[in-house]
Amino acid sequence: MKKQLILLILIGMTTISVKAQSNSPLFSENVGDYKVYLLSEGQQKGNTGILIGATPEMIAEQIPEGTFPNASNAFLIQTPDKNILVDTGFGRLLFDNLESIGLDAKQIDVVLITHMHGDHIGGLLKDGQIAFPNADLYIAQPEHDYWVNQNNAGAINVINAYKKQLNLFEPNELENIITPLLPGITPVAAYGHTPGHTVFLVESNEDKLLIWGDLTHAMAIQMPYPQVAVTYDVNPEEAVQSREVILKYVAENKIPIAGMHIAYPAVGEIKKICGKGYEFIPR
Ligand SMILES: [Zn+2]
Repeated sequence: MKKQLILLILIGMTTISVKAQSNSPLFSENVGDYKVYLLSEGQQKGNTGILIGATPEMIAEQIPEGTFPNASNAFLIQTPDKNILVDTGFGRLLFDNLESIGLDAKQIDVVLITHMHGDHIGGLLKDGQIAFPNADLYIAQPEHDYWVNQNNAGAINVINAYKKQLNLFEPNELENIITPLLPGITPVAAYGHTPGHTVFLVESNEDKLLIWGDLTHAMAIQMPYPQVAVTYDVNPEEAVQSREVILKYVAENKIPIAGMHIAYPAVGEIKKICGKGYEFIPR
């Protein structure tokens, strides 16, 4: 924030450079032997119109200015021998972001997908072609089945294009996390936002990070009030349930989290607030 402010003063109040800076993957987090990079495609302001179940009192208390910080993020996990993308954003700045950490799309070995909304799978195709020719693509079976049954063109294009690289998997239940997908990476069911919405627990040595996809869209209100859903949730009630159990889990186990719609740096800790919901402490 300080750097942005100085930059703003130096360049005479133009906002373009500030945007460019906040979109670049400046932030990284070590998780044991793994390194996790934030690949942000944008820092935005969200509107209270997307909220379901937020009372005027909650909004006045948490979002008095009427908008809240929001972002569009993907993450890269670098293990000693693999480059693993978690989601691909819209694909607008993804390739520039990868380049800025010295990576070409051909060097991506694995792409994990939290769910198949356009702002998460948009980068999988570039001009209608496979963007990651050497990557194994992982999508949860219930997520795949839902969008195929919906006859969703965007999802079906991706599934067809990646046919030879596609791996469908069953996420673990939170109470019974046993089957990793890859060494140190375990998918966990967090259904509701979409029917197969999956979060990924990253573990190396004793370190952990939960990359939680779209478990939240409006941190400002969904932390103190996890019962607030959004209009993008396919099943808002189930999304609330998933958010509540995962928040409890990461707070109790002190597992840092990273999210696709959390403002820069999009990584931090979750703490229980007495008599209320939770608080997010960014890195
Ligand atoms: Zn999203």
